[in-house]
Amino acid sequence: MMGEKMFEKLDILAFGVHPDDVELGCSGTILASIAQGKKVGVVDLTRGELGTRGSAEIRKEEAAAAAKVLGVTIRENLEMADGFFQNDENHQRKVIEIIRKYRPEIILCNSTEDRHPDHGRSAQLVQDAAFLSGLRKIETYMGRQKQQEWRPKYVFHYIQDRFLHPDFVFDISEFMEYKIKSVLCYKTQFHNPDLDEPQTYISSPEFLEAVKARAMMLGKRIGVKYAEGYITKKVIGVKTFDSFIQHAT
Ligand SMILES: [Zn+2]
Repeated sequence: MMGEKMFEKLDILAFGVHPDDVELGCSGTILASIAQGKKVGVVDLTRGELGTRGSAEIRKEEAAAAAKVLGVTIRENLEMADGFFQNDENHQRKVIEIIRKYRPEIILCNSTEDRHPDHGRSAQLVQDAAFLSGLRKIETYMGRQKQQEWRPKYVFHYIQDRFLHPDFVFDISEFMEYKIKSVLCYKTQFHNPDLDEPQTYISSPEFLEAVKARAMMLGKRIGVKYAEGYITKKVIGVKTFDSFIQHAT
């Protein structure tokens, strides 16, 4: 189409409500997928401005550093209000616009329920928007250009804090070191003895150990060292039993 500015199509778009959710929940999967030749982007819904430690400005730099470790094609922030965003038309339209912009087959997003109430609300917002994005009568614009409808094939929710039973797990054994590296880019959020800020649930040294322990526990379920776990509301179909046999234990 004349004058239409098309953004690079991505295979996977990973959403997190707070910068660092993606690193904690699905960065191993992102690293593995990029190594397999997939194009991946990250979208943060908020700037995490209500976080006890750090500030929105510092977290922006931290998120950019983590994006480099992950090797993602794009990282954008929708600048919704941390803690107060809603799953309503206004917010759904923002998510629809970004989905139509990058046209991913797969969306990764927050857990359907979690310790932080923003996570469950974000999960529902992204899931609803992913469906609505496929309806051509919902008109959205990028600049003055009308966007084409686009429905991702799957929305997968990464298990982050609360342990939920996974519908499937993704082997990230080879990428655990870089997953932790990406998490540690958030210098103000996690364990950092040099920092004079209040301690929080996630800033204790035990928290990072728990992230590793969780990945080990999920990996053990399929006989590998580390894995990330996912919940899907849609049944996953395969064309060959090889998909299962590769990971049989
Ligand atoms: Zn979060």
